[in-house]
Amino acid sequence: MENLRERIHSLKKKRNAIILAHNYTLPEVQDVADLVGDSLGLSIEASKTDADVVVFCGVTFMAETAKILNPSKTVLSPEPDAYCAMAGMCGPEDIKEMRRMNPGAAVVGYVNSTAASKAEMDICCTSSNVLDVVSSMEEKDIIFVPDHNLGGYAGSEVPSKNMILWKGFCPTHHAISSEMIDDLRKEHPDALIMVHPECRASVIDMADMIGSTEMMVKAVSESDRKEFIVATEVGMKHRLEKEFPGRSFYFPDVALCGVMKMTTLNSIVRCLETMSPEVSLPDNISERAYSPVKRMTEIK
Ligand code: SF4
Repeated sequence: MENLRERIHSLKKKRNAIILAHNYTLPEVQDVADLVGDSLGLSIEASKTDADVVVFCGVTFMAETAKILNPSKTVLSPEPDAYCAMAGMCGPEDIKEMRRMNPGAAVVGYVNSTAASKAEMDICCTSSNVLDVVSSMEEKDIIFVPDHNLGGYAGSEVPSKNMILWKGFCPTHHAISSEMIDDLRKEHPDALIMVHPECRASVIDMADMIGSTEMMVKAVSESDRKEFIVATEVGMKHRLEKEFPGRSFYFPDVALCGVMKMTTLNSIVRCLETMSPEVSLPDNISERAYSPVKRMTEIK
C-alpha cells in the first residue's frame, strides 16, 4: 500500500492534480485525498481549485458536478460505473412532467442527480444547505427531487412551503430503521444520536442532531459526549475516529453503500497514469446545469 501511496503522490505532482474524496469512500482513499468532505464542500473546492486536474473519488454524479463547475479542467472519475442508485431514480423527463403537472412551482433538486436532470432544475441543494435553499425560494410550491426523505424533512422544517415530492430514496439510508437505532440506544444510552436527513422520518424523529456529514463533524467537535450513534453511511466512521480520538461512534450494520467503496488506490493510480476515464458532458447539458449548481454553491 505504501508504494501505491507514493505513486499517487508523485503522479499528483506530475499532473498538477487535486484528489477530492467523499466522506463515504474507503479509509485508504480518504487518507490520500487533499480534501475529504461532503458534496457541498467538495463542490465548492472543485469550483475554486488552481489544479489542472481534479480526481473525484466518490460516485459519478459528484465527478459530473465538478465538471459542470469547471468545464475547462480535466476531471477524472476513477470508477465511472459507480452510479448512485438514487440519482438514477429521477430523470429529466420525470422533472419535465412534474413541471407540467405543477405550473408555477420551482424545482429544487438534490445534488445526488445526473447532469441531465440538473439541467432541468432551478436550483440544486445538498444535505448541508437544503433548508437554506428551500427557504430562499420565492415560490411557495416546491417540486423536490429525487429524495422524498430529504424533501419531507425540508417540508417539516420550512412549513411555509408546499413540498411536492418525487418518490426517490437512498437505499443505504432508507434501510436504516428506528428499531436499529433503538437497539443501539439501549446499548449506548449516553450516546448523542446523529441522523442524516436521507433517513426515513421515523429515524429522523429519534435524532438529537439532524444534518449532513460535515454538520455531524461540527456537532461532534462542539459536543462533550464521548459516544455517538451515527445514522449515515459507515465510511464516515474513519473520518470521525481520525479527527476525534478517544470518542466512540456506532453505526447501524446495514449502512453500507457498495458504489462508494468501488474507488481504490489502484484505480486512482490507473486514472492518473492514463488520464482517464475523463468526465465529459454534452455542451447543452453542461451549460444548462451550470446555473442551478452554481446557485447551490452560493448558499452555504
Ligand atoms: S449512500 Fe445513497 S445517496 Fe450516497 S451514493 Fe450511495 S446510494 Fe447514492
